[in-house]
Amino acid sequence: MPDPSIHYEGHRAGERTGVEPSLFRPQRTPSRDPLGDLRGRLERTGQWHPSQLAGRRWPVACVSLEVTQRCNLDCTLCYLSESSEAVRDFPLEEVFRRIDIIVTHFGPGTDVQVSGGEPTLRARDELIAIVERLTREGLRASLLTNGIKATRELLVDLAAAGLTDVVFHVDTTQQRAGYANETELNALRDEYIGRARGLPISVFFNTTVHAGNFDEVPMLAAYFVARADRVAFASFQLQADTGRGVLGARADAIDNDTVFDRLREGAKLPLKSNVLAVGHRECNRSAVMLVIDGKVHDAFADSAFIRRFMRETADLRIDRGTRWRAFRSLLAGVVARPRLALATMRWLAATIWAAKRDLIAARGRVDKLTFFTHNFMDARQLDVDRVDACVFMAITQDGPLSMCAYNAQRDRYLLRPLETSEGTWQPLAASAEAGRTFPIKWLKGRSREAALRERHGRRVRAGDEVERETA
Ligand code: SF4
Repeated sequence: MPDPSIHYEGHRAGERTGVEPSLFRPQRTPSRDPLGDLRGRLERTGQWHPSQLAGRRWPVACVSLEVTQRCNLDCTLCYLSESSEAVRDFPLEEVFRRIDIIVTHFGPGTDVQVSGGEPTLRARDELIAIVERLTREGLRASLLTNGIKATRELLVDLAAAGLTDVVFHVDTTQQRAGYANETELNALRDEYIGRARGLPISVFFNTTVHAGNFDEVPMLAAYFVARADRVAFASFQLQADTGRGVLGARADAIDNDTVFDRLREGAKLPLKSNVLAVGHRECNRSAVMLVIDGKVHDAFADSAFIRRFMRETADLRIDRGTRWRAFRSLLAGVVARPRLALATMRWLAATIWAAKRDLIAARGRVDKLTFFTHNFMDARQLDVDRVDACVFMAITQDGPLSMCAYNAQRDRYLLRPLETSEGTWQPLAASAEAGRTFPIKWLKGRSREAALRERHGRRVRAGDEVERETA
């Protein structure tokens, strides 16, 4: 019998967690029926049910396209490998080849996150060319950035190139000088929101949740609610022991449920979560709300209707080029289904009636906001079913691979020479190759801590002179 997992080779019977990461492999050959394949994997892992979006609406939720491994921060929970700073940006030709792989595996309309490392460290004209290429291929390009170099001017150019979203990663794991906690970081978040103002791109935020900011999650939820007119999506990623980050495993108290409880506390509403599921229940949770006159209304309160709507429109090909085009194609699809159209009118009338006071106060203005939690796995605790049901892929030179499985074995892919039209391309900068002893300025995370401890006999804090040392 073939192995049920397309991403996993060679496991022993009955082995489900703590699997050797290198046994998970990218999917080399594109499927003829990517939607059906994902549905099959969800069925095998017990994740196929009436509220499942994956395998109905799309064959993958998001693909991460890393355009550099370098970063201008050193997060305490960074997923990058210890070698990242020494890895050269792979040629544009290879980036374009990977874009082609995404199209052949998942088709146009797929969400692609241009990430890194910090993608804005890539040469500006190349970054713009990458977004243009994604757009030309009918993919939806979003930029995942820490914001430091994501200037207004760059965002204007990227929006012109077809960027659909910008995702600002801001949180206390980044140890930004002058910001002691998440509350203080709100000033920076406001600045970043301002940079995208008026551009035809949606603003998302990513926050890594760890013991040091867990209690601030309600405050963050309230912050995003108060800015729902400018922020469309707030994602909370749970601490995971993977990559070069020094914090390691998370505290037991942090999981999808407890983080969601804090989001509800901040939203001041018992929001329903996972009315529509995104992949494996252990991986993702979401809630969708309407913010009217500053107050939160659960957009998915009538879960029976929302699920029915999703199922009956699952085969509808939604034009996701812009929000307006998506709305138009959805509307056309609903009108073509008279019974569903009637139910939709009823739902709409009930929703308007329930929110009537706030709607009057807000003069009809309604903003949609989504909360999302994402539960990355520890590198040494990979769960076979979750990897099999994964809906968030990294694109490697060999094909797509579950992000968790990729994070657990990055160097296996990053340090491999690539064949290009100009010959074999070597990933490591020449000075890093001799003896593999990287200069301290190239080290980050755990290896940097170890090197500095060896050299100075103590843990080095951000801001120390040695932190700015150059080799
Ligand atoms: S990347 Fe990891 S946490 Fe995310 S969906 Fe895939 S397996 Fe689940």
